[in-house]
Amino acid sequence: MQTSKFNDYSFPDNSGHFENYGGCFVPETLIPALEELEETYKKADKDPEFHKEFNYYLNNFVGRPTPLYFAERLTKYLNGPKIYLKREDLCHTGAHKINNALGQALLAKRMGKTRIIAETGAGQHGVATATVAARFGFKCVVYMGEVDIHRQATNVFRMNLLGTEVRPVTAGQKTLKEAVSEAIRDWIASSGSSHYILGSALGPHPFPLIVRNFQKTIGEEAKKQILEQEKVLPDALIACVGGGSNSIGLFHPFIKDTGVRMIGVEAGGNGEKLGEHAARFSGGRLGILQGTKTYILQDENGQISNTHSISAGLDYAAVGPEHSLLYDLKRVEYTSADDNEALEAFQILNKIEGILPALESSHAVAWLLKNHKQFTKDQTVVINLSGRGDKDISQALERINLEV
Ligand SMILES: *Cc1c(COP(=O)(O)O)cnc(C)c1O
Repeated sequence: MQTSKFNDYSFPDNSGHFENYGGCFVPETLIPALEELEETYKKADKDPEFHKEFNYYLNNFVGRPTPLYFAERLTKYLNGPKIYLKREDLCHTGAHKINNALGQALLAKRMGKTRIIAETGAGQHGVATATVAARFGFKCVVYMGEVDIHRQATNVFRMNLLGTEVRPVTAGQKTLKEAVSEAIRDWIASSGSSHYILGSALGPHPFPLIVRNFQKTIGEEAKKQILEQEKVLPDALIACVGGGSNSIGLFHPFIKDTGVRMIGVEAGGNGEKLGEHAARFSGGRLGILQGTKTYILQDENGQISNTHSISAGLDYAAVGPEHSLLYDLKRVEYTSADDNEALEAFQILNKIEGILPALESSHAVAWLLKNHKQFTKDQTVVINLSGRGDKDISQALERINLEV
């Protein structure tokens, strides 16, 4: 059944490329830190002790494996396909991000670093990083745009409770992109003592490789769980795509299983014009941003475009480089759901399944609500529920008029 085209899929190559994408476009001064990280990671990956330690904390601190939950009522509501939810929303701190933050904290420990740097948009990655920093006793600084600091005051307080210093970034749009730049600047000056925990499958090599491998536990578990419950592989996997870490984590262990469709859902925002969305594959083109070559939303002069999404986690101009390759290879279908569709899915999952999804994850659910007729009643799909929506309640309150 399997075609040979993907049987020898093994990216990135030694130079960190996914064919045309990825690579390592950074100032010379950062190269030693990236080389140290790559070397440490490659050694750790071959060391059973490292995997034992990682798995110990995944199981006992993060709460893995997360359930693969049969959404019986949503399945009935749509009259099929059979819908399974991969419950990353049940992870400690509320999303898949902790899988990666934990793995990188263990690498930082191996490198003898004493301080952690991170960037955060909505605060999810910041909270995950602050959490592992507290657990392992690292000093921790999180860069966050000033606009985001005001929008996400409770997450700032949460990081502070965990002993992390949140540093406001006032450049440009004062959001995630500028926060990443500040974090990189800090790292250039401090890499002797500090490790930079990048939050998605983005940035210069080796980050897209490392983040994907720490997240692929999602797909490995899902594969085992669906085979236990359904005895066959699913017909489709659906995940939202911000930087691309929860989606690549789910997709990667299935790349060679070409009978399994894979659908990546980007943020359609509130319109199709540049600046109104974060759909990189329909509106972007090849460029370089923050260390990696990939699809990027930019204007005709190559200026990075503003983006919009109701979900901060999907609101970024670049997509992880492995997704660009999977797009070219047509192995993953990339599409989008807009703000209103995500809000609708957010409500339906609450009402029908008793589950409060993150607005990011609601984009994946929204795609299926719109496209369920592509499947027959007895086909099965797995939706990655990347996080829980407690963080989104006040935003939803502003947007949803409930008729009670
Ligand atoms: C950050 C985040 C995302 C988007 O990031 P990816 O790297 O694309 O996974 C999606 N869902 C949730 C809940 C998030 O916190």
